Amino acid sequence: MEENQNYHMTSEEFRHWGYKTIDWIADYLNNVEELPVLSQVEPGDIRAKLPETAPQQGESFAAILKDIDEIIVPGLTNWQSPNFFAFFPTGISAPSILGELISAGMGVQGMLWATSPACTELETHVLDWLVDMLELPLHFKSSNTGGGVIQDSASSASLVALVAAREQAKADVSKLVAYTSTQAHSSIEKGVKIAGLSRENLRLIEVGADYAMQPEALQQCIESDIQAGLTPFYIAATVGTTSSNAIDPLAKLGAIAQKYHIWLHVDGAMSGTAALCPEYRWIHQGLELADSYCFNPHKWMMTNFDCTCFYVRDKAKLIQSLSIMPEFLKNQASESGKVIDYRDWQIPLGRRFRSLKLWFVIRHYGIEGLQHYVRKHIALAQEFAEWVKSDPRFELAANPPLNLVCFRHQGGDEINQIILNSLNSSGKIYLTATKLDQKLTLRMSIGQATTEKLNVQQAWELISQIADANEGI
Ligand SMILES: *Cc1c(COP(=O)(O)O)cnc(C)c1O
Repeated sequence: MEENQNYHMTSEEFRHWGYKTIDWIADYLNNVEELPVLSQVEPGDIRAKLPETAPQQGESFAAILKDIDEIIVPGLTNWQSPNFFAFFPTGISAPSILGELISAGMGVQGMLWATSPACTELETHVLDWLVDMLELPLHFKSSNTGGGVIQDSASSASLVALVAAREQAKADVSKLVAYTSTQAHSSIEKGVKIAGLSRENLRLIEVGADYAMQPEALQQCIESDIQAGLTPFYIAATVGTTSSNAIDPLAKLGAIAQKYHIWLHVDGAMSGTAALCPEYRWIHQGLELADSYCFNPHKWMMTNFDCTCFYVRDKAKLIQSLSIMPEFLKNQASESGKVIDYRDWQIPLGRRFRSLKLWFVIRHYGIEGLQHYVRKHIALAQEFAEWVKSDPRFELAANPPLNLVCFRHQGGDEINQIILNSLNSSGKIYLTATKLDQKLTLRMSIGQATTEKLNVQQAWELISQIADANEGI
């Protein structure tokens, strides 16, 4: 190697390839509808196309971009296809992509206020905006006892809430008991394990016919745990369960949480965004009784992963449970008490400038633009549900409250499995399934940024055709 050799891209090369890269992204998104939604490769196919070892000498960026098309794209499940109806919405948008890019270009670490004041203050400000935009309880605002922070995921948010609740309970960990419903997301159980509790310290509370947690069952369970000398400390309620979009009755659960001094965390990861529209704010009825809350703009608010908005009623409790001050992080701003150091609100130390993309999205679309997409997706889902209802071969497994339709062919699990496999191997649409009441149930989740009525119509026609072709099974 020569002395002083410079391996970097020049600024001119960066501009050139930067423009090409944006062109690539625009072309990809323009053409994504033509690609199979679910990747059709076999395990190992992608690695087989990659060289055994890393290159000794650097390669041209042209060669790298070429491999994106030739090696990577065939191995993508194309989440941004308007025909993606699997799992949950994961819409992205041009302003969000650009926000990510600028964040990468700045490359700042926002662990402390002092390590980039703008990173902290923009985040606080945008999360305060969202309290108004969703009409969340005012104590979640940074000017009150609480505040908001961006976490990487709803999984981290519920874990952090659990750790704060554990601290608040001040009891032996082996005696602590956490509660959630049988329909809650798997991340709640994972959080319980990570926080040092055993699986036996988690109660899965029964749900009613609407798949929402039954408050009476919760109360009974808490009473019997107290009688057994245990300490109930954490309830995780869900607004929009992943399986069926059930909305737990927050007001009743909140009253129980208050009575027994238990931390109530509300997981609105998938559905919280609906509260952008006044007519859907009923989903958060009772949220004022919660100690913490999260929803994912990286699901239904056209913001690239990762971006979970997490709020606490009392920030002091959260900070107490997570703050450690080593010598090398000490600084005047932190000691003044006038600033927020978000490293004390999360598990890792380091943090990206994630509020940029959220700020870009909110400013580009405005509240009105964001409401437009929520309303559009819900209207499409409701229309799809009507088609299901009016077809005697099919039934709804639950009344869809928002934009997720759970339905099944009445012929039993086998035919539903055939429909699911045929749909997904066709590459034309991608759907996932769940079990409700032990029955295989198809889930039509409508919330991608570019999904139009035509996409939903085509999906229903395809489902209908496959059902026809398998009549009599
Ligand atoms: C998607 C989802 C999660 C997990 O979200 P991550 O941000 O990926 O951790 C948790 N809870 C609910 C209700 C969800 O829909």
